[in-house]
Amino acid sequence: MNERIPIAGPSISQREIDYATDAATNGWYARAGEYPRRFEESFADYLGVKHAVSLPSCTSGLHLAMAALGIGPGDEVIVPDLTWIASAAPVQYVGATPVFADIDEQTWCLSAESVSACLTENTRAILPVDLYGGMPDYTALRAIASENDLNIIEDAAEAIGSEISDCKAGALGDVAAFSFHGSKTFTTGEGGMLVTDDDALYSRVLHLRDHGREPGDVHFRNTEVAFKYKMPPVAAAMGLGQVERAEELVARKRKIFEWYRDGLAGVEGITLNVEPAGYKNTYWMVNAVIDPKLNWPKEKLMAALSQEGIESRPMFYPLSSLPAYVGRAEAVLAAKRNEVSYRLSPWGINLPSALCLEHVQIERVTETLCRLLGKS
Ligand SMILES: *Cc1c(COP(=O)(O)O)cnc(C)c1O
Repeated sequence: MNERIPIAGPSISQREIDYATDAATNGWYARAGEYPRRFEESFADYLGVKHAVSLPSCTSGLHLAMAALGIGPGDEVIVPDLTWIASAAPVQYVGATPVFADIDEQTWCLSAESVSACLTENTRAILPVDLYGGMPDYTALRAIASENDLNIIEDAAEAIGSEISDCKAGALGDVAAFSFHGSKTFTTGEGGMLVTDDDALYSRVLHLRDHGREPGDVHFRNTEVAFKYKMPPVAAAMGLGQVERAEELVARKRKIFEWYRDGLAGVEGITLNVEPAGYKNTYWMVNAVIDPKLNWPKEKLMAALSQEGIESRPMFYPLSSLPAYVGRAEAVLAAKRNEVSYRLSPWGINLPSALCLEHVQIERVTETLCRLLGKS
């Protein structure tokens, strides 16, 4: 039997190994903090934003963003129904309520219409997710945010390097968070980054992420009870290596998608990620939505692919359908309202998108998929 084809995984070069070794060996005393600072500076520079704060995860970044914006009990934050739970869980960490909005049929992200349908007098923020490397129409979302005095918190965990008209993902919200989990386009094993152009928000984040200490405080006199969210220096060293290889990693993700697109060209009944004019998608996960007429629900297709040595993942289940939320008032409403999320999710599947994959492996996936679907 052929070797299993992995769903996700990084590309680590000698550069990351050398930096991590240097951080572990020498990143102490006078050089303590050097790698987190260099990683933050390089990352901010790559995105074209003013501030970047390295963190233990993207989840902690979204939590800090909401805490720093003063979102709390009684407030509502609009999140897409179809995403990873890490987009929505931090809304509850600060005591606010997540409101699950539908996704757009093409972009699989929030739309102006779906957000408008969820606005109430308690709405404080919109949290768009750049799903699988694709992005929503931020011009439209920005218009709603301005009109209703809302903040935009961008979950860019899956979209490092994606762009709209040369503006990079992470630079489109008031504040954004990235993930460097081992499955993401850049990895530090576990890790995250918060980015913003807002000086006041940045200061507030630095204060909140270090147990309520002023940056530079040497007396350990905390002014409030807060959080401790920092990235370990050895992880930051790997992150620096990854960001220095950004062009290469992003090009590889796009190449993997191109192999799928070419391999599945002309095959009816399979819809892949879109890249509207003016957008650059970095395809964190290649996602295929299978025409229901072919009668291959995602669970059945995943099991069949696994038999063939091919790993896959389900397109996210709507959050409002998960045991974690089922029965909550906002989940009941969402399940009735979010027609597109509920219609697409059963037929969507993530195909192997690991950075280590070669053309022959993607060919094996596309050929197997076509054979299973009766298209070869
Ligand atoms: C991976 C991911 C996160 C969470 O990242 P962590 O670093 O694991 O906290 C958040 N949102 C989305 C959309 C993700 O894919």
